[in-house]
Amino acid sequence: DNPRRTPLIAGNWKMNLDHLQAIAFVQKLAWNLKDAKHDFSAVEVAVFPPFTDLRSVQTLVSADKLPLAYGAQDLSAQDSGAYTGEISGAFLSQLECQYVLIGHSERRTLHGENDEQVAAKVKAALRHNLVPIICVGETAADLELHGPSAVPVAQLKAALSGVSNAADIVVAYEPVWAIGSGQAATPEQAEQVAAQLRTVLKDTLGEDVAAKTRILYGGSVKGVNIAGYMREPNVDGALVGGASLDIDEFSSIVRFQK
Ligand code: PGA
Repeated sequence: DNPRRTPLIAGNWKMNLDHLQAIAFVQKLAWNLKDAKHDFSAVEVAVFPPFTDLRSVQTLVSADKLPLAYGAQDLSAQDSGAYTGEISGAFLSQLECQYVLIGHSERRTLHGENDEQVAAKVKAALRHNLVPIICVGETAADLELHGPSAVPVAQLKAALSGVSNAADIVVAYEPVWAIGSGQAATPEQAEQVAAQLRTVLKDTLGEDVAAKTRILYGGSVKGVNIAGYMREPNVDGALVGGASLDIDEFSSIVRFQK
């Protein structure tokens, strides 16, 4: 394990919980973790609500000084202008978002996001001082055709093309076949790809950045399987979908024991 990397447990709510539900949820989550004496400096916790919840989450987090980070699930590659329906990174910064998910497989498959758009969004996030969580992962067909690492490695290289100065980024390895399927990758599979992704970071951004960048595993993470991932040297946390909507389950992931 690398002491320079604080584990990050990130909850991707996807299109769930409106702003009223979000307030109740975040309040309960914070109480729950506080009751359990969770050490937020040892394991960072972040939530990714829908855009329409972010202002409410910001207000609650700042009023109650909750030790939770939050971010958006996407952003525009543009900063402002005639882009109907888009959300600028500038707006997310104003809402004190720390992070933004980029290139989630659901954006790539359901909204046709390609590697170029992902790269442009990474640059937009960095322009607005948001930490991009760059999501990569292979489909079941990719896995059969190219093996486990080829597609995630290519996606990460593409996402970082033209990025020279990115001290603070996060990478999430999420095999598409493991997302929402209940069929999680094994810790060994996650580690194998995470190690390859760290090599890409080293080659593109240098040794120092590679050593301090957190690489998350995502895909059917639950309370019962988190510990296995966290024991792997190159896995520094998890991006959690379904299980992030259940406060007890998400708390048990946050409080993993190696
Ligand atoms: P899951 O989703 O935990 O429900 O598999 C993960 C994700 O899509 O980020």
